[in-house]
Amino acid sequence: MRLRRPLNYNESYASQSGDESDSDKESNASQSSNESESTLEPLRKKLRFSTEEGPQIELKPITILVGDKDQEFYIHEKLLSSTSAFFAKVLKDDWKEGHDRIVKLPDVEPSVFRIWMKWLYTGRLFVKNEQDDDEDKTDEEHTHLYACYALGDFLQDLDFKDATIDAFIENMVECNEYFMALADHIYGHSKKGSRHRELAVDCFVRLWDREDWTELVIEDQDDAFQPPQFLCDVLIQIGPALDKGVEEKSIPELFDLKDTCKYHDHGSDKPCYKTKPAFLF
Ligand SMILES: [Zn+2]
Repeated sequence: MRLRRPLNYNESYASQSGDESDSDKESNASQSSNESESTLEPLRKKLRFSTEEGPQIELKPITILVGDKDQEFYIHEKLLSSTSAFFAKVLKDDWKEGHDRIVKLPDVEPSVFRIWMKWLYTGRLFVKNEQDDDEDKTDEEHTHLYACYALGDFLQDLDFKDATIDAFIENMVECNEYFMALADHIYGHSKKGSRHRELAVDCFVRLWDREDWTELVIEDQDDAFQPPQFLCDVLIQIGPALDKGVEEKSIPELFDLKDTCKYHDHGSDKPCYKTKPAFLF
């Protein structure tokens, strides 16, 4: 198992620009690394609807100005508001953005917003880079996934966040290496009780090589590598098992790619993103 040292998002991502990769290869977050399984997707439960139903597609799309250079994106309002609680809120008529039909997101990286927009239209995550060598392309995918997770939290798109969690898991299984910065990124963009946090805790408790536990030491609170709440959650998990011991597992032993809902936040009352069509209205 190779170790993956943490990436500094702010330094590594800011230096990149224009992720224009339009890979034809599918990167469905729900598919396993086994290509023979990639064609198996959930069927739509209902196909035919009344001609009076459906979205208002006659409306002009919303203009979204992204990044410090106001890169323009155009998306239909219903698609935005049905997917993102953030957009649903700001596009109400009594908000300036809803009235003007323009939303500015100056602090969002356009290349990351593009990944989210492709997700809206396809239900897939276009985060892989097939061009570079193995080390570089893996690092770049990690950087994309961290940025996607943060954007999903900002836009309050829970399905996108669940899908990103699945992409983290798929990447770990495919590359046989764990993300040492996973807890830092997940805890920074999730709330207490999130099942996403359980993924970070399980990875640490079960996957991390024991000698790497020294990485947990926090010498300077302002530059803490691991979030304090994460350390508490780790103690809560390993405490009851201390007498018997906590068994280390391999990545394939820990994860079942067909059953990742235990790390999702949709809960039992809402459907998993895997069961939804790409367009929802
Ligand atoms: Zn699920």
